[in-house]
Amino acid sequence: DCTIAGYDDELAKAIADEGRRQEDHVELIASENYASPRVMEAQGSKLTNKYAEGYPGKRYYGGCEYVDVAETLAIERLKQLFDCDYANVQPHSGSQANQAVYLALLQPGDTILGMSLAHGGHLTHGAKVNISGKLFNAVQYGVDGNGLIDYDEVQRLATEHRPKMLVGGFSAYSQVVDWARMRRIADSVGALFFVDMAHVAGLVAAGVYPSPLPHAHVVTSTTHKTLRGPRGGIIVAKGAGEEIEKKLQSIVFPGIQGGPLMHVIAAKAVAFKEALEPAFTTYQTQVVKNAKAMAKTFIARGYKIVSGGTENHLMLVDLIGREVTGKAAEEALGKAHITVNKNAVPNDPRKPFVTSGLRVGTPAVTTRGYREADVTELANWICDVLDAPADEAVIARVRGNVTAQCQKFPVYG
Ligand code: PLP
Repeated sequence: DCTIAGYDDELAKAIADEGRRQEDHVELIASENYASPRVMEAQGSKLTNKYAEGYPGKRYYGGCEYVDVAETLAIERLKQLFDCDYANVQPHSGSQANQAVYLALLQPGDTILGMSLAHGGHLTHGAKVNISGKLFNAVQYGVDGNGLIDYDEVQRLATEHRPKMLVGGFSAYSQVVDWARMRRIADSVGALFFVDMAHVAGLVAAGVYPSPLPHAHVVTSTTHKTLRGPRGGIIVAKGAGEEIEKKLQSIVFPGIQGGPLMHVIAAKAVAFKEALEPAFTTYQTQVVKNAKAMAKTFIARGYKIVSGGTENHLMLVDLIGREVTGKAAEEALGKAHITVNKNAVPNDPRKPFVTSGLRVGTPAVTTRGYREADVTELANWICDVLDAPADEAVIARVRGNVTAQCQKFPVYG
């Protein structure tokens, strides 16, 4: 018997419980999704056994002829997906992809200009607690009073601090970024323009969100968010030139990583094939429609959305001035089997572990098959809980509704 169950029942139970949680809770964490059975098949394959330091055709180990096929498929599909000429599929995660870009193209102590975590950027865009904020002199931009990226401030900070690199991209911003304008700002001070498109990569692949690739010197992403692949990272570029490409290749390996995760790379190859299908465009279009329907419902129920709405897969519900905190809202919704994450909103008066906001995203529910009517129902139930977060009767009623809705839309059947 070679199964986990019967050998390690404690672990088998945790895995089964997590599977059940994914089926009977509604998932609104904007960075999550459900990988397809094919993606999971590749990730659970025997490719996990293979050491393949190096790149296809140039390995430091023998026996790589078949994993070379898998990695080449991933690279070629990725280039097709984002219409670009450089792709590295080896980064183990989004954070490692970003680390690779910084270490390849900058020197320690150089100045970078990125979006602050408190205003929707990611830790790896120069936050003090992250290596990007420790190793480099990180200057941070944010959003204006309307919750929109303040490009005038970005220009002013660029002119004042002369960064070597301008960082675009976000984890909690619901509008379209003007990539061309950001590139002009970078050019005005001779900086490189790097975009981390982790959150919107799936939307970009499907053509429902503007691609940063024509504008940025280099672009990174995770593969597990809107892109709906295995957990992992990628680096892509268009017209970056041989010098930059060489630096990127050698920083990933041997610079910061050892053997690539060939099973994950195979899973990336499957995910990219899925993303090239017409159905993926239909899916991403629905992701945005669903997000807009949810934002509309929150606003109709009197809840403010940062920036006034959404043009992508996520939104920030603004709880400033309300009794309910982000933390309390996350907990009350959790009891109703609705999974969201508390999130700081711009100029949040509360501490990062409490916050005055909720981040709500539609990639996962859309994968389950939810459409506008379903997410509108759901957003109304969320408002019922936010209106009365301590009312156990409301929570129980919503949990009942959520359970029935989840049964209508099985994730893996
Ligand atoms: N970049 C952005 C914009 C993100 O939102 C995230 C994850 O939340 C990451 C990078 C980090 O990715 P990973 O968790 O794979 O390191």
